[in-house]
Amino acid sequence: MPEYSIGLDLGGTNLRAAAITRSGEKLHKISGSVQFREGREAVMADMVRAIVELREKHGAAGLGGIGICVPGFISLEEGVIRNSPNLPFLEDFPIREELGKRLASSIILENDANAAAVGEKWIGAGHGVDDLVLLTLGTGIGGGIISGGRVIRGHLGMAGELGHISVVPNGNPCGCGSRGCVEKHASGTAVTAMARLMKLGDALTAEQVYELAHRPDATGVKARQIWCAMGDALGSALAMLINTFNFPLYLLSGGLLPAWEFFGDAMMCAVEQRSATYRLSKATTRIEPATLGNEAGLYGAACLPWIERRSA
Ligand SMILES: [Zn+2]
Repeated sequence: MPEYSIGLDLGGTNLRAAAITRSGEKLHKISGSVQFREGREAVMADMVRAIVELREKHGAAGLGGIGICVPGFISLEEGVIRNSPNLPFLEDFPIREELGKRLASSIILENDANAAAVGEKWIGAGHGVDDLVLLTLGTGIGGGIISGGRVIRGHLGMAGELGHISVVPNGNPCGCGSRGCVEKHASGTAVTAMARLMKLGDALTAEQVYELAHRPDATGVKARQIWCAMGDALGSALAMLINTFNFPLYLLSGGLLPAWEFFGDAMMCAVEQRSATYRLSKATTRIEPATLGNEAGLYGAACLPWIERRSA
């Protein structure tokens, strides 16, 4: 029986869990919708059930640890989700301790974007790179920073909230209290809002706006303008990150990635314009799509026990 770990990714709409070997081979995966409407107890039970099933199937002897990733602001020190719009009933609840008790095992808790960055570094587009940033472009924008092979967590574990980098000083108000956060100008939600403003439709998804951008008519022109504005905002955030870190790799993932063909030029133009660090290190600085898709968090969660063990 190979040495393996269990990763669990609790998303905004579903739960994925997998037993993955130390070399990154997926042994078994469980995925399903979560009874979010049933509240905390039902979701906790779903999580425990998935992990127990995997542990029973592959044996406790070879299990190297359990990693769990969830969206939101997480105090890793305390193992508590402080703020999560998608999982409000888990806020301020000692989720790590409670899961640990029910599973009689220690649990490693991580923010989902941090875990995705770990996953990409482990067996994705960041393999072999010790310094990288990952931005996840979905309904919101998440971020993960890895420096010297380690996740940058900050003193309480809330570092890497890159969606709240402000790129427009007096821009759109954000739920975080700031204005002009890149999440408000370059996420799927922002694309939907721009489509509404440009009278393309009241509730178009980012995917639909991407489809419209292929059209040769005036609607296509408007849709492409939206992706240009999105790319400009994203590029401004990337320029700040490049100026701050001078890392060799910046990865983009998430549902908006296919639209790269429409936002990529504006994004690179903003990066060039706003980052002297980029202009001076262009030959060795890469901005690229991530490769693990929506499984990055799952792989990252499973990788956490190995990282923690190494650093213990
Ligand atoms: Zn914000």
